[in-house]
Amino acid sequence: MKKVTKCAPQLAIKQLGSAFDRFFNGKSGYPKPRKKGKDDRFSLSNDQFSVKGRSIKIPNLGWVKMTENLRYKGKILSAKIFKQGGKWFVSIAVELTQIEKLKPKTGLSIGVDLGVSNLATLSNGEVIPSNAPLKRQLAKLRRLNKSFSRKKKGSQNREKAKAKLSRLHYKIACLRKNNLHQVTTDLVTRFDVIAIEDLNVKGMLRNRKLARAISDMGFYEFKRQLIYKAKQHGKSVLSVGRFFPSSKMCSCCGELNQSLTLSAREWKCLVCQTIQNRDVNASINILRYADKDLITA
Ligand SMILES: [Zn+2]
Repeated sequence: MKKVTKCAPQLAIKQLGSAFDRFFNGKSGYPKPRKKGKDDRFSLSNDQFSVKGRSIKIPNLGWVKMTENLRYKGKILSAKIFKQGGKWFVSIAVELTQIEKLKPKTGLSIGVDLGVSNLATLSNGEVIPSNAPLKRQLAKLRRLNKSFSRKKKGSQNREKAKAKLSRLHYKIACLRKNNLHQVTTDLVTRFDVIAIEDLNVKGMLRNRKLARAISDMGFYEFKRQLIYKAKQHGKSVLSVGRFFPSSKMCSCCGELNQSLTLSAREWKCLVCQTIQNRDVNASINILRYADKDLITA
């Protein structure tokens, strides 16, 4: 308690209070104790810190340099200070009265089919490949993981390997997020209406084979980014239900291909004879049948 600012335990106690509330309401399990050195973080309310140019004043620490200026002008609400990949970060919440520059309307709509081998396929036939640097880092991750588990518990070398691993995890998270940000910003810039599939990510993760690839793609993160960006710029995001047969349905005649396997990349419709690319066909169906508004929902 003496080592850290009093603001750190203050919020932790409040959070413990709400954790117990959730526990007694049956919404979540018994709160687990936190450990120093693991997921270190604390929050500050706006009367406990101040920002000036590229510096932030934190209780007990004084002025600390930041790598960049606060990009948004508005009322500062709170700050969260946390450690990730061996580095310290501050996340500052700012209330904005108005978005400065809205993306212009284009009058165009698009269907997006999120995939495993490719990040996404669009209903106009465009394919967005998944990030290649990310794949390389994942190979490195497997190697480091192995080397870490071989190190003796409690040894210096294990600590070193742990730090290395945590830095790599951070790097991978950054690459992944950056890739998704580029794609979601591009979609919101080019289209007014974006139709996606409401995937049951949890259900899919249970399928071990696909799990790795799917969690890598960050479907949940994709959806989250798309919705908040569309909201900011007055665009819409629509979705089709989880059980809509977007892959099986022929986008020309509506026939359902019940014999379609998971591995078939192309198939021929038995009724209208059209040769369908699995992902493009799915994205066309998604665009056509999406009716749930995710912005207002
Ligand atoms: Zn057909």
